[in-house]
Amino acid sequence: MPATVDRDHLTGLIRREEATFEERHPNSRELHERARRSMLDGVPMHWMTEWVGRFPVFVDHAEGARFTDVDGNEYVDLCLGDTGAMTGHSPPATVAAVNRQIARGITVMLPGEDSIWVGEEMTRRFGLPFWQFALSATDANRFTIRLARHLTKRPKVMVHNWCYHGSVDETFAILENGKVVTRTNNIGPPVDPALTSRVVEFNDLEGLERELANGDVACCLFEPALTNIGIVLPDPGYHDGVRELTRKYGTFLVIDETHTICTGPGGFTRAHDLDPDFLTCGKLLAGGVPAAAYGFTAEIASQMDAKLPKPVDVGGIGGTLAGNALSLAAMRGTLEHVLTDEAFERMIGHAVDFNQGVQDAIDRTDLPWHVTRLGCRAEYRFQPLPRNGGEAEAGTDHDLDVFMHLYALNRGILLTPFHNMALMCPATTGEDVARHTEVFNQAVDELVGVRV
Ligand code: PMP
Repeated sequence: MPATVDRDHLTGLIRREEATFEERHPNSRELHERARRSMLDGVPMHWMTEWVGRFPVFVDHAEGARFTDVDGNEYVDLCLGDTGAMTGHSPPATVAAVNRQIARGITVMLPGEDSIWVGEEMTRRFGLPFWQFALSATDANRFTIRLARHLTKRPKVMVHNWCYHGSVDETFAILENGKVVTRTNNIGPPVDPALTSRVVEFNDLEGLERELANGDVACCLFEPALTNIGIVLPDPGYHDGVRELTRKYGTFLVIDETHTICTGPGGFTRAHDLDPDFLTCGKLLAGGVPAAAYGFTAEIASQMDAKLPKPVDVGGIGGTLAGNALSLAAMRGTLEHVLTDEAFERMIGHAVDFNQGVQDAIDRTDLPWHVTRLGCRAEYRFQPLPRNGGEAEAGTDHDLDVFMHLYALNRGILLTPFHNMALMCPATTGEDVARHTEVFNQAVDELVGVRV
């Protein structure tokens, strides 16, 4: 029998940690009270209410792998803006590029030389020859879907069960008893997602073929490893199968590297020699300055040339500020000097140590937990290793997640909300990782070992 956590004991620990949280953050509490008078729930963006604690921690400043809150508490930041700051906060080369450009024109709606440099660099990293730019990964995905629909004249999009690709309508679909239904918290879907989407479990090639055989799927929008419901890695041969089937049924394969770029400088795609038709990426490309990119093959570029309306007008793909000079300068500075091969090597080394520290702590117990790593990203879940999104979701242990987040936060460590993800950036140190290992061990002891 695997060990279990006593739920009453866990509730008691959560109450204690909540009290500590309140004690440590009087200024955040005060700012939140003020913020409630001008913003819905006292936050500029609704996700910010989802953190543990009765109110969010208000940040004073962030630099490298750390940030300081308005109460003077300093944190090792393992969330790193949920990948937006996987470059570290305000990396000097990005700041220098932004400072240079901001005085030379922020947005002109005309191209500059930086755009060519970035396009060439994206090709060098990811292999795809043609690129376009957007301001968010969500938009990169939305624009790619529109292009795929236009070129194939097919209506549907295929996604993995419990995927996340940004606020893209087609992706808020899950499987329930084999049927496509809307995600519970979906706000104002334009139509029933069953009309726009097909959903398949990750690692299920049979299911994928069954769905593709309907002949109505414009594109598969896939993360190469799931990263938004814990990390779920592909089975050996899964991606070869995906590529073979998408080709067989005339469906475009879109690989979303927004998170899996943690695998290495050219993302999962280069590290594992994937061959997608489209590739999307956002968040960290400009060190957190809004920027995203989508790339495609020469074959698609020539199809676009033949099939896109001329003039193209907005056509559902646009954004006045997309491809602006500031974003491109920031992308150039970031790709050239921050997200380098050498930086990835260091970051991945730290993630290996992080993973080992957590694994050793789990191994001291009989708890059926797991930790998974993908490049410089690691994640632990309080459940056995899942093979797909459905299994991962079903095994979510909300109370243990809350406890671990609070416990870490109260000891100066920020984990990514919604799950227990940790990212390493170029400024992360061995001491940062060791601190997390120490805190994780303490948490485990309090849960199942020495009762303090
Ligand atoms: N793709 C993936 C894989 C993501 O994880 C996310 C955000 N977590 C997005 C796209 C959307 O990014 P954004 O919200 O910056 O548009």
